[in-house]
Amino acid sequence: MSERIIPLIDERLASLPARLPAVPIAATGHLTDRLQRPLSDLRISVTDRCNFRCSYCMPKEVFDKDYAFLPQGALLSFEEITRLARQFVAHGVRKIRLTGGEPLLRKNIEILIAQLAALRTPGGQPLDLTLTTNGSILAQKAQALKDAGLQRVTVSLDGLDDAVFRQMNDVDFPVTKVLAGIEAAQRAGLTNIKVNMVVKRGTNAHEILPMARHFKGTGVVLRFIEYMDVGATNGWRMDEVLPSAQVIELLKTELPLVQLSPSASGETAERWGYAGASGQHDAVLGEVGVISSVTQAFCKDCNRARLSTEGKLYLCLFATQGHDLRTLLRTQASDEELASAIGHIWQGRVDRYSELRASLPPDSTVGAGAKRVEMSYIGG
Ligand code: SAM
Ligand code: SF4
Ligand code: SF4
Repeated sequence: MSERIIPLIDERLASLPARLPAVPIAATGHLTDRLQRPLSDLRISVTDRCNFRCSYCMPKEVFDKDYAFLPQGALLSFEEITRLARQFVAHGVRKIRLTGGEPLLRKNIEILIAQLAALRTPGGQPLDLTLTTNGSILAQKAQALKDAGLQRVTVSLDGLDDAVFRQMNDVDFPVTKVLAGIEAAQRAGLTNIKVNMVVKRGTNAHEILPMARHFKGTGVVLRFIEYMDVGATNGWRMDEVLPSAQVIELLKTELPLVQLSPSASGETAERWGYAGASGQHDAVLGEVGVISSVTQAFCKDCNRARLSTEGKLYLCLFATQGHDLRTLLRTQASDEELASAIGHIWQGRVDRYSELRASLPPDSTVGAGAKRVEMSYIGG
């Protein structure tokens, strides 16, 4: 076992109560936090379980056969998730991403997708509904997901070389099955498909160019993600982070790129388009993205809330505690009370961990080594 694994302390037990403010906060479709950031993106974790053991997320030394995953009764039901999601939408959420753990492992996930796909914004628009998956059972599920109302999907894939991929998922899962899942998603009519590759220097950086060559011109947008210091178990080290600027330099040695403007405010990825013979972006060749969560903080536009599998609201990926909405749900709170509690929590938000990371003292309660919640629990 690696000596760099830090023992897990179960932070899921700690939570902050979701309080009802003295003056109710009605949902107006526009809710801002203390740094004037709107709430517009909700990530919902539907399970804390996964069939992979990616070392940067669920190292198998910690998430072993004795690991206590959440019991069934602790999970929000689909009806509870949808009821909460409706309040978030009333506050201005336009985009919902289902995640986990591995979201496709949650039984009958299509039923939840159908419920969420039926939600409408206050202006009557459907939501931008998507899901992040490791792709392992996507080939079997893609059509059912699309039929239930899913519009698009993001697949995580850390390399094309089978040996590298099997080592990174750490359960000996073959890359061909994930590639088949991506193709099935395309055939099923899911659009705007993205592939996320976490880059770890010394592990899969040599897969950057093969991945780019493979997905160029396929309509799939490949995005390179800097390896992050999320959670408290992955033994993160800065020297294993390959800065996005270096990823772009490497790509440019072989594939001409031009920078594109962001597609939306709060967009985490910097976009680069493949240039054609004219030197301009050629839409047929497509684009790649880099997500520089470590070297370039994007907290100032962070509009993302995260709902854990058991109904805790987290205001930042690096938070140590969530706000317990499940107790409110299960003690007969009205929709107005749920909306008011969510409004109160978001209005108090000051989180901006990535901006602070560099200046935090080593013993900070939010800094490196703090008992932060795991990515597999809160969702990516
Ligand atoms: N199991 C699904 C998957 O892998 O796509 C969904 C959950 S996973 C936690 C969501 C995303 O977080 C994945 O794209 C994964 O690569 C990314 N991720 C997990 N740990 C990470 C880390 N330490 N740094 C950067 N990205 C990470
Ligand atoms: Fe599972 Fe996704 Fe985490 Fe990998 S990144 S262990 S697939 S939850
Ligand atoms: Fe948002 Fe927290 Fe990430 Fe900053 S560190 S971008 S506040 S999730």
